[in-house]
Amino acid sequence: MWIRLAVVTALCALAALGGNPAQREKAGVRNLVLITIDTLRPDHLECYGYKLVRTPRINSLAADGILAERAYTPIPLTLPSHASILTGTYPMFHGVRDFTGFTLSKDRATLAAMLKSAGYRTGAVVGSAVLEARWGLNQGFDSYYDNFSFTLDRDWQPIAERRGDVVVREGLNWLEKHKTNPFFLWLHLFDPHDPYEPPQPYDRQYRERPYDGEIAYTDENVGKVIDYLKSNKLYDNCMIVLLGDHGEGLGEHGEKHHGFFIYDSTLRIPLIFKLPGPGPHESRRLSQPVLTIDVLPTILQVLGVADRVRTAEIQGKGIYAALMGRPMPGEATSYAELFLPYYHFDWSPLLSIRRGRYKFIDAPRAELYDTEADPGETQNLYARKGALAGQLKDLLRQTSSRYSPRGGAAGMPKEIDPVTLEKLQSLGYLALSKGGSSPPLDRSLPDPKDKIEIYELIRHGTKAAQQKDFDRAVRDLTAAVSREPGSLIAHFQLGNVFRVVGALDKAEREFQKALELRPDYTAALRRLAETYLAGRRYGEAETVLRKVLAHSPNDFPAWFNLGGLYVTEDRWDEALAAFQKAQALNSRDAKVPLIVGRILLRKGDLQGALEAALQAAKMDPNLLEAHLTALEVYRKLGRAEEAEKEAETVEKLKSKPQ
Ligand SMILES: [Zn+2]
Repeated sequence: MWIRLAVVTALCALAALGGNPAQREKAGVRNLVLITIDTLRPDHLECYGYKLVRTPRINSLAADGILAERAYTPIPLTLPSHASILTGTYPMFHGVRDFTGFTLSKDRATLAAMLKSAGYRTGAVVGSAVLEARWGLNQGFDSYYDNFSFTLDRDWQPIAERRGDVVVREGLNWLEKHKTNPFFLWLHLFDPHDPYEPPQPYDRQYRERPYDGEIAYTDENVGKVIDYLKSNKLYDNCMIVLLGDHGEGLGEHGEKHHGFFIYDSTLRIPLIFKLPGPGPHESRRLSQPVLTIDVLPTILQVLGVADRVRTAEIQGKGIYAALMGRPMPGEATSYAELFLPYYHFDWSPLLSIRRGRYKFIDAPRAELYDTEADPGETQNLYARKGALAGQLKDLLRQTSSRYSPRGGAAGMPKEIDPVTLEKLQSLGYLALSKGGSSPPLDRSLPDPKDKIEIYELIRHGTKAAQQKDFDRAVRDLTAAVSREPGSLIAHFQLGNVFRVVGALDKAEREFQKALELRPDYTAALRRLAETYLAGRRYGEAETVLRKVLAHSPNDFPAWFNLGGLYVTEDRWDEALAAFQKAQALNSRDAKVPLIVGRILLRKGDLQGALEAALQAAKMDPNLLEAHLTALEVYRKLGRAEEAEKEAETVEKLKSKPQ
């Protein structure tokens, strides 16, 4: 039965795809929609057997396609995982090894660049600031919608993500303009990432399991894409690939979220291929292991462009034959890595290799699991199967050097800029990047297994602060610093909480401790300056801000705060210069031109004040103060007609619920 089914499927698909390039040309244009869903565990989808969530639209895609039962990412972090998906290479090759501080090199060939060179129009919409164009994933896209607005915020507001309905709306807007061309659309749906706050009605339907609620909501958005393609008669000829970027710990191994361990709770992902070609489509399941780096070469095979684009670098393998039901030769091995514990905490990195049913994790205390008998990875067989572990360790080393670029491992982190740091902190990331250090494999570093409780305490404390539960934040972070006095990030976050609740002496003490641990840690210097400002210790604040600017002259928050300090001290010329510098560094924060406008108005430069106020109003049309300033200037200039118009806008904004 299975063989017959496989043969029938293969014949149907081959008929649709065409057996040779000439026939393929005749088969017509094949389009591509890639949907990546953040933080999605396959065992929380109905089509993977989960019973507690309704995902009818993803089910329908699986029913029309091929579902990979065992698919894995080589790294459980959003940015590096997407870099692997979009280049078909391992992190040690593409060089993006952490969620921040690394940029995809322009030398790497991306799926978008390949398809663009093959004549495709290429568009992307991302749902999180961690995938902003600045990190290099936009290479090859004609249109890359990120546009995360950022306003300087002193707390931990969740501002740097967008909902799936907006991602899909923007994606379909783009598609509406390019649907007659061969197109490649990538949509990144971020909703299942924490915090789990599904919108109505999923908040009520999944009150006890909000993570599942986010998944059900995401399913609705996937459905909108399918509906659009069907109603525009694009569905049949479209290859749709839906996959996760990594899973979620959900408490397994003590890990609530992802990015600290490399167990299968976060490495395993859902992966569904819907092939192009006329229906009816047959639902199939693929049991052999597939890696996310295999997705790109498989797409090129299915679209029939593999022979027309630059593919020399690709490290994954095309699994078209397996999708057609034919056996794939060779034994599948897969590598995974995670340097976050090292980059952010000075703890050991983690590496792993999987061959067949066994998975070896290289850590200060090594681990070996039989993932078939023990999918939860609870029984460490390392002591009992030393010979096998040794073989896998050798294989891990060989794999690592085989897939590293010639001339040494890629990827040197660079210091991240302060605005980005703030954004990442708004996502609940700890965002402490080490500038310029390459990852060591030093087995004397602490084992992350021994640090998970500290890590979770710091995360809990940070999250509590985001939710304005400052008592809990102080409790968790105090516990973290007392257990781990050398933790820079714990002192830093505790200082932040004390600063926000106005315990300025305590805040100062924590920032000073962080600076003892790393004197050039500018984030702590910046916060220390803010603490002094709040305590009206202007002289000390100015000294510290000057120290920040000596180290990083383009630090937007430092210029912003310095400007504020000068305003307080009535040093208007210096204030104007500082805010103008801030404005040049950050063109997105409407408050800055507004302040510049207010200062110019005070100095009597009405024309300059008007220009600045109008710029602020253009950047943020709901910024009442910008319109009030423009109104004031128009009145002073005697421009009655424009003043009247502004007055109407002001009235409208005032009557709008805030
Ligand atoms: Zn992610």
